[in-house]
Amino acid sequence: MSENSSLICGLCPHKCVLSSGKTGFCGTRKNVDGAIVSLSYGQVTALAVDPIEKKPLYHFYAGSTILSLGGFGCNMKCPFCQNHDISQHGIEVSQGYVSPEKLVDIAHKATREARSIGVAFTYNEPFLSYEYIMDVAPLLKSAGQKVVLVTNGQVLQEPLESLLPYVDAMNIDLKVFSEDGYKWMGGDFATAKATIRSAVDAGVHVEVTTLVIPEINDDPSMMREEAQWLSELGKDIPLHLSRYFPRYKLKTGATPVETLHLLQDICREYLDYVYLGNV
Ligand code: SF4
Repeated sequence: MSENSSLICGLCPHKCVLSSGKTGFCGTRKNVDGAIVSLSYGQVTALAVDPIEKKPLYHFYAGSTILSLGGFGCNMKCPFCQNHDISQHGIEVSQGYVSPEKLVDIAHKATREARSIGVAFTYNEPFLSYEYIMDVAPLLKSAGQKVVLVTNGQVLQEPLESLLPYVDAMNIDLKVFSEDGYKWMGGDFATAKATIRSAVDAGVHVEVTTLVIPEINDDPSMMREEAQWLSELGKDIPLHLSRYFPRYKLKTGATPVETLHLLQDICREYLDYVYLGNV
């Protein structure tokens, strides 16, 4: 391919057109001499052993811990991002490169020393390290380690379907139950729903998180629609309603706890497990 060719990135719904030397919306993928290169491959900004409940996953090896790894960049631009210090930055925030083999070694050590069950790709959007996870996930699986993704679900079906056989559990954000809301955050509503559906259909353990933000997604009828939609995929899918606090660019006050209780009651009409977070 000629060096001047533009390439379309097929990883997420932005489908960025990358001319030579240009980087996409997420800041992690670049057209280098006619090939799309993942700048985030193996680049680690955070590596820690967390309780599994912190992901949050409440119905997957409860009481265990998991080695948790973050990279940089994001394919959404949520003005309230809690992790904007890594999600809205480039490789300058990386703490260094960890090869797939090295990550497997670290995962084994975490199992020995802290009862870790595997590796969670989290903190920033893991699908932006797609090639890395595609390389490391089969190694982790054959080493008996669980593979967990904590994701905004902004990935196209083809790459998603290729990775799902290596994934044990996912916590997927459903940030708002509307197209307009997703547009405001730089994402795509249909893609988020498709990712949840595909993961459930593939037999992956799925839990869903909605950060409840005043005036953005705290409308009871919207939350009712979300719970109803989720219940059609499975009444036993755990839904986490997290309390928002002002972060990054959004100055709206914190979500009242009463709002969360009200929405929890509504969701419980449809779903067996509805949890509140950050309350
Ligand atoms: S992964 Fe990045 S470069 Fe590719 S389409 Fe999405 S935002 Fe654009």
